[in-house]
Amino acid sequence: MSTVSPPGAPVPGQLTFVARPRAKPARHLADLTMAERRAAVAELGEKPFRADQLSRHYFEKLNSDPSLMTDLPAAAREKLTTALFPTLLTSVREMTTDSGTTRKMLWRLFDGALVESVLMRYTDRTTMCVSSQAGCGMNCPFCATGQAGLTRNMTTAEIVEQVVAGARALASGDVPGGPGRVNNVVFMGMGEPLANYKAVIGAVRRMVEPAPDGLGISARGITVSTVGLVPAIGKLADEGLPVTLAVSLHAPDDELRDTLVPINTRWKVAEVLDAAWEYTAKTKRRVSIEYALIKDINDQEWRADLLGRLIKNQLVHVNLIPLNPTPGSKWTASRPEDERAFVRRLESHGVAVTVRDTRGREIDGACGQLAAAE
Ligand code: SAH
Repeated sequence: MSTVSPPGAPVPGQLTFVARPRAKPARHLADLTMAERRAAVAELGEKPFRADQLSRHYFEKLNSDPSLMTDLPAAAREKLTTALFPTLLTSVREMTTDSGTTRKMLWRLFDGALVESVLMRYTDRTTMCVSSQAGCGMNCPFCATGQAGLTRNMTTAEIVEQVVAGARALASGDVPGGPGRVNNVVFMGMGEPLANYKAVIGAVRRMVEPAPDGLGISARGITVSTVGLVPAIGKLADEGLPVTLAVSLHAPDDELRDTLVPINTRWKVAEVLDAAWEYTAKTKRRVSIEYALIKDINDQEWRADLLGRLIKNQLVHVNLIPLNPTPGSKWTASRPEDERAFVRRLESHGVAVTVRDTRGREIDGACGQLAAAE
């Protein structure tokens, strides 16, 4: 199989919104609405209700194997599954840690592009962290994915398939803790989800629609994380999907944010925060501000103070992420005492703060470490 060669590394500050055009993966049932599935089945010469049966197999039983579809006539099975369940993800490698409750999956897409997803099982819930693009064009200097550049957008079905793969592992009892389900999906894997808007919204719809249309995961359990594409945040607020919005802020001042999150040269801190408050006003959902604490770069108490002043009295919560190490980066996580001081300063403004755990660090599966190399 030929392999998509990764793009050249971007120069500092370079933003890539659109990848070079390339062949698209085959259409999959999960790309389609129920009406489109019925039309596709009819085009193949079968009764439209077969689309409902196929959808139940896929979204309810997590099954795309024709030999298990005994409610379909034998002759129709091969034809329908060949047409609607093309292989989109091929497992390259799986790495586990935390006694098997954290697993990073490396996938090869049809054209050789590589992406990763991470399953994290906690005592009360299981989260799938999914990729929305192969690579990323947003070029944040502290993020391994951003340093490698954008290969291409993923399709709706390629995104959904990552969740289904995690759901299968859980349902089969493969993950310690007994059979379980996916409760949360976070778009915090590779890629900038709002730069691949249409496919991501399609995937969110498939995730939240109840069976047979989709997986039936609560919209509240889904988090879309963005560098701050302001017009797309506005669009998302109007979708009628009460997903959680996470904004990767990382600095409260434009001077520093221009260098840490290069999209800030396009939309400034004030514009991003305004978009976030509009999102909370429209959806009544609390917005999450992501802030990776980088030693001596963005972890000063005065920055905590400035951040606190900018966001106090809003429907907001700050998620501090101790910086995860990435290859070639000169930066490291903040000292514990600086982290504690940062938390205290924020809290003094009445802002809710949590410090994210660094699950998956040992397998390069934590925030910003996904680089998808074989
Ligand atoms: N492109 C989206 C989603 C991807 S990453 C976004 O930027 O929001 C999910 C989170 O991990 C983002 O907040 C991102 O800034 C953060 N992150 C990236 N690299 C990191 C690193 N090395 N350590 C800690 N967090 C990191």
